[in-house]
Amino acid sequence: MTLIGIDIGGTNSRVGTVSPEGRVLVRAAAPTDAARGSAATITTLLDMIHQVLSDSHARLSGPSAIGIAISGPIDVNTGIVSNPYTLGGWPPTDIVSPFRAAFQGAVVIAENDANAAAVGEWRVGVGRGANRFVMVTLGTGIGVGFLVDGQIQRGSNGSHGEAGHLVLDPSGPSCYCGAKGCWESLASGTALSNRLKDPSHMDRADYSRAIEQIAHWTGLALVNLCAVFSPDAIAIGGGAGAQFDLMKDSISEVMHQHRRLIRTDVPVLAAQAGDDAGLIGAALLAKDRQG
Ligand SMILES: [Zn+2]
Repeated sequence: MTLIGIDIGGTNSRVGTVSPEGRVLVRAAAPTDAARGSAATITTLLDMIHQVLSDSHARLSGPSAIGIAISGPIDVNTGIVSNPYTLGGWPPTDIVSPFRAAFQGAVVIAENDANAAAVGEWRVGVGRGANRFVMVTLGTGIGVGFLVDGQIQRGSNGSHGEAGHLVLDPSGPSCYCGAKGCWESLASGTALSNRLKDPSHMDRADYSRAIEQIAHWTGLALVNLCAVFSPDAIAIGGGAGAQFDLMKDSISEVMHQHRRLIRTDVPVLAAQAGDDAGLIGAALLAKDRQG
């Protein structure tokens, strides 16, 4: 049984063979370069699958299941992703069918990347044992996945709630979502780049100030998530989540200020599977679907 996990992010995409226990065995990565269009990205991903299969000596048997974690709005029933924002240049795209056509007999599923990362962290990372678990991916954008007893909590008609666009400061910067001052516009990797204006010439003080502000807004967003969902544990992952150690004290301070009524003394932890969480979660969700 060869499981393949794919994580298509706004900046980079990853492909890996994943063990049934959720360990990445062989991996490949490449820039997503969404402006080339979805067909070009899919061709690159198929090449990467052949590469990891070859490196795993599994080229002949092929994959038994492929799980795709993808940024932005996706209909998990049809596999159609409609994301002109973090995947600029993509028309509405059926992300599942090209992989079913290329690997006949393989189970292929697609899932929102934050949901997939939540499943990855719950199965093999810091979410283990949490009944009500929140996963935050801080990257090019901000994604949030909610699990109850390991099950993805979906919105109306299977939609994904996009908690990364919670409005925190109505006088803040404009976001592509139509709001001003949403969490993503204030604290994503893109917001960090905008804040630093010229990241190649930033000094240490500029960088510290930017991280401090991201931590402040993230802490406030987590207070709101606690008010609605009352989780047992929260994990922070994604590319910018690698800076969690620099942010954790400020996040705790903001959450502590709101502790009187809302249960904000919940553990906030660095994601253990790191950038692999989405890829692992997608592969394991595909494995589950094999029956
Ligand atoms: Zn927004």
